[in-house]
Amino acid sequence: MDFSALLLEWFSVHHRDLPWRNTSDPYHIWVSEVILQQTRVNQGTEYYQRFIHIFPDIPALAEAPLDAVMKAWQGLGYYTRARNLHAGAKQVMSDFGGKLPTSYSELLRIAGLGPYSAAAVASFAFNEAVPAVDGNVYRILARVFGVFTPVNSSQARREFFNLAGELIDRNRPAEFNQAIIDLGALVCTPRRPSCSACPFSDYCYAYLNNLTGLLPLKNRKNPPRSRYFTYLMINFNGTTFIRKREGNDIWHSLYEFPLIETPEQLDTTQLVETEAWKELMGDSSAEIIHVSDPIKHQLSHITLHARFIIVQMRNPTYALRTGYRNISIGNLQELSVPRLIDSYMASEPAERYFTGK
Ligand code: SF4
Repeated sequence: MDFSALLLEWFSVHHRDLPWRNTSDPYHIWVSEVILQQTRVNQGTEYYQRFIHIFPDIPALAEAPLDAVMKAWQGLGYYTRARNLHAGAKQVMSDFGGKLPTSYSELLRIAGLGPYSAAAVASFAFNEAVPAVDGNVYRILARVFGVFTPVNSSQARREFFNLAGELIDRNRPAEFNQAIIDLGALVCTPRRPSCSACPFSDYCYAYLNNLTGLLPLKNRKNPPRSRYFTYLMINFNGTTFIRKREGNDIWHSLYEFPLIETPEQLDTTQLVETEAWKELMGDSSAEIIHVSDPIKHQLSHITLHARFIIVQMRNPTYALRTGYRNISIGNLQELSVPRLIDSYMASEPAERYFTGK
C-alpha cells in the first residue's frame, strides 16, 4: 500500500477550504494551529479571524498588553495557549528579529510552539518534510497499521512521529499533514468512522479486524477531581471588587471576583463562619442579597462546583481595599474573565441585582 499516494489522492477531492489554508504567512498558521489544538474548527474560525484582525502580525501581538490578548481569547479556554502565544511573539521580536525562523528545530525554541505547531508551521509555510502529529495522526495510524501502543503513553509520541516521518510525502509535506487532519475530521472520526468512504478500507487493520472501536488504545485516565468555588459578587455603590488570578493554577491572568474555595460545598450559614469569609467581609454591613443555584462547570481535569453570592456592602473591609481592584460594574465587560463568570454575568439574577433593572 502506498499510504501517502492514497491519502493525497483522497485529499485532492475532499479537502476542506479553511481560511488559514489560503495563506503561507507563518504567523497566521501559528495562530490557527494554536487555536485549533483544543477547539473545534467552527468555533476556532471565528476566533482566528478576530485574533488576526486585532493582532495582524508578530510585532502587534508582542507589543499588546497581556490583558488585551487574554480578552481576545476569552471563551476559548486553555488560556495557557494565549499566554504562550504572547510570550512567543515577544521572544520572536527579541531573539529572531521579528520573523519566525524557517526550520522545525529552530521553531521548537519558541515558547508556545510545541512539536505539533512547529511541524505545522515548518511544513505549511516552509515546506519542510516533518510530520505534524496530533490526535488525528495517532488515531489513523493506530487503526491502519494496527499499532497497540497506548496513545497517551510516554513512548507513543516518538513511535508515531517516526512512523509518520516514514510515510510523509517529501515533496508535498504540507498537503500530507493537512490531508491527515481532514481525513481524521471527516472520515476516520473517533466514533463511528466512515470506513466505506475511506481510501484505506482495503488495507486498514482495524477495519478488517473489526477493531475500530478499540483502536487507538488509551491508558485509563484519573477521573476529574472536584473543587468547590463560591464567588462573591459585591455591590458597593455601583462598583465591585475583582483581582487577577496568579500562581500555578487554572485561569492564570484572568480576572475574578473574591473567591472562597472550600473542601466541600457549604451552605451560607457554614460559609459565613469560615476564616475566608470573615477576612473578606469582616463584621461589615455585608448583606447577602442572592445565592445562585449550584453550577457545575467541567474543565478537562477538574469538575468545578460553583456558586455566586451577591452581596450588598456599605464599607469595604481592609482585605478588599488592599487585595482587590474596585471597578465600576459597567467596566467589567472590558476584562477577560473565565467562561464560568462570563456566563453567570449574562444570567438574569446577576444583571438584575447589579443594574437594578
Ligand atoms: S478504514 Fe475506517 S478505521 Fe481504517 S483508517 Fe479508514 S476510516 Fe479509519
